[in-house]
Amino acid sequence: MELVEADMTEECVCEDVPFDEFQGYLETAQEMIKLCAAKGGRGLAAPQVGIYVNMFVWIINNKDFQIVINPKFYPNGKKKTKTIEGCLSYPGQEYYIERCKYIRAVFYTPSLVYMPSETVVLRKITKEFRPPLSIIFQHEIYHLRGKTVAVVGELLSDDKHVGVAFKEPEEKNEENKLEKERIKD
Ligand SMILES: [Zn+2]
Repeated sequence: MELVEADMTEECVCEDVPFDEFQGYLETAQEMIKLCAAKGGRGLAAPQVGIYVNMFVWIINNKDFQIVINPKFYPNGKKKTKTIEGCLSYPGQEYYIERCKYIRAVFYTPSLVYMPSETVVLRKITKEFRPPLSIIFQHEIYHLRGKTVAVVGELLSDDKHVGVAFKEPEEKNEENKLEKERIKD
């Protein structure tokens, strides 16, 4: 599995994963996780590897990947936030983007159950996210709509490389280091 050229992901159209066929996508998702981890990304959407379905993988607690199927999100309040985002499809580039700060996400994720034999079922998740996960979730779901950072963002020129935070200033604490951290999906 390899990343496809960025222009093959821009303005792409993705179909929902059919619920009765999701098992056929699990192997793909696992390969996406391996690729994302190998590239040091925090998320990877199916169209980035030339598969046009509504599915992405992302890191939810700094180490564990989650498979997200047929996701939707809704703004949770009116707050917007400016972010600087990188993307595995645009190596070496960073983009300014305005995102919703808080979101409510609805999606499906595979879950192992015993009934009595081991079976993978899809579990529906409704969850509220705050930065940085809310930003990464939007970044990935925008991929599924063909709205990559290059389509909706503003390319950061070299003279603007100043380590601008996507974390809010009022959240200063010992995690300040995160302020210099950029999203790389
Ligand atoms: Zn991306």
